[in-house]
Amino acid sequence: MEEKFDAIVVGAGPAGTTAAYLLAKAGLNIILLERGDYPGTKNVFGGVLYSSVLNRLIPNFWEEAPVERHVSARQWYLLSPTDALSFGFQSQEFDSPPFNNSFTVLRSQFDRWYAAKAEEAGAFLITSTVVDDLLIEGERVVGVRARRDEGELYADVVIAADGVNSLLAQKAGFREELKPEAVALGIKEVIALPTAVLEERFHISGDRGLAMEFFGEGATKGLEGSAFLYTNKDSLSLGVTVVLKSLFEKKEKSVELVEHFKSHPVVKELIKGGELREYQAHLIPYGNRTLLTGLCRDGLLVVGDAAGLVNPTLYYEGTNMAMASGAMAAEAILAAREEGDFSQRSLSRYQQRLEQSFVGQDLTQYRGLGRLMEERPQLYTSYATLLCRLAAEFLAVREEPRGMRERAMAGRVQKEMPDLWEAWQTVRRWYET
Ligand SMILES: Cc1cc2nc3c(=O)[nH]c(=O)nc-3n(C[C@H](O)[C@H](O)[C@H](O)COP(=O)(O)OP(=O)(O)OC[C@H]3O[C@@H](n4cnc5c(N)ncnc54)[C@H](O)[C@@H]3O)c2cc1C
Repeated sequence: MEEKFDAIVVGAGPAGTTAAYLLAKAGLNIILLERGDYPGTKNVFGGVLYSSVLNRLIPNFWEEAPVERHVSARQWYLLSPTDALSFGFQSQEFDSPPFNNSFTVLRSQFDRWYAAKAEEAGAFLITSTVVDDLLIEGERVVGVRARRDEGELYADVVIAADGVNSLLAQKAGFREELKPEAVALGIKEVIALPTAVLEERFHISGDRGLAMEFFGEGATKGLEGSAFLYTNKDSLSLGVTVVLKSLFEKKEKSVELVEHFKSHPVVKELIKGGELREYQAHLIPYGNRTLLTGLCRDGLLVVGDAAGLVNPTLYYEGTNMAMASGAMAAEAILAAREEGDFSQRSLSRYQQRLEQSFVGQDLTQYRGLGRLMEERPQLYTSYATLLCRLAAEFLAVREEPRGMRERAMAGRVQKEMPDLWEAWQTVRRWYET
């Protein structure tokens, strides 16, 4: 007789493990399938885990989880090919629990720890197992086909948590092949640096850490995207992410993009003496353009990156959204189980809750900003360079009246950054009335 589970979760990333953890804790018979040799082995992200959901599920998780540092300060840089204009924020508040729910982590360690928590709760984790297909009877998803002996597994409900390339969301008919404008390519390096050097260089100590984001020609060679640098205990996570369409159009090579970023004078100093420990590449849902036509059907729910739930605006925020969606999927399944009804109608509670939550609201709100940035490629190219030029001009020490050069600077902004000029005029008018 075939074995039937209460739920099958495909993918032991933040989304899938959260769902598996909660369902197992509620006493359900759960199988968590992961293609990697262990959870996290193939998983790539920039490096900041956003953890308000996780802290709700496992209070003070950082006391036992393999976190690197809490993010005590954030900095944003505009890079011209040679110069840098920056601003940042740090707060004592970020240095005490819950540490602003932001921690640098290495996924190969974190995902493994988190999946072990799901196992402790009672989930049955099977690694080195690729799921190739959904089993569908009539309109209803009844299980999955995994690439192993006796690979047909059945359940009341399947959770597709198989990440940005989600084969299962595609098989379920929720989306077509990924389009180059709907995903960004992230290239990441982990660069080893002795802890003492790292702490002195970045002015941090203890468990305190720093998260830096970079925009402009010096960061991405003018491609739509950004770059990042995060501090771990004895390494740096550094990378560049660019929208795939932009990479194709400009015919750039991804490897050269990272080298370009690393060769910027400011970045070069920050990574000096470091040794390459890891090199990875991965896709990211971008600008809310991956949103699916639906997130559930009879017997199936889609969560996390598989559903396109990443906010790429100020920095990539995907982990918290993945965990939130995993938790909401689990809640919807528990409610469906009470009714003995795993139909699309019953499971659509998940989609409704998701849309009303911070996940749905943030993704909708920032969709417009994403479009605005897409329509203005100059934001990624000339603007950062020009703003650096203006800063240099403003700070230059010369024997001339300041008023003259300030008028010349205003003229340049008006001519070369008309939309910024317009925005500034609006603020001025508003201020003067
Ligand atoms: C370069 C880069 C930088 C990023 N930076 C950040 C950041 O700093 N902070 C942040 O919050 N987010 C960041 N993100 C986004 C974040 O990584 C994701 O939003 C998050 O990992 C999504 O979690 P998930 O569980 O949905 O998917 P994933 O983490 O991708 O997990 C999917 C899991 O499914 C498994 N899997 C896939 N297919 C199958 C299959 N067919 N069968 C079995 N198993 C399968 C995979 O091995 C994997 O374990 C970044 C992403 C990238 C690529």
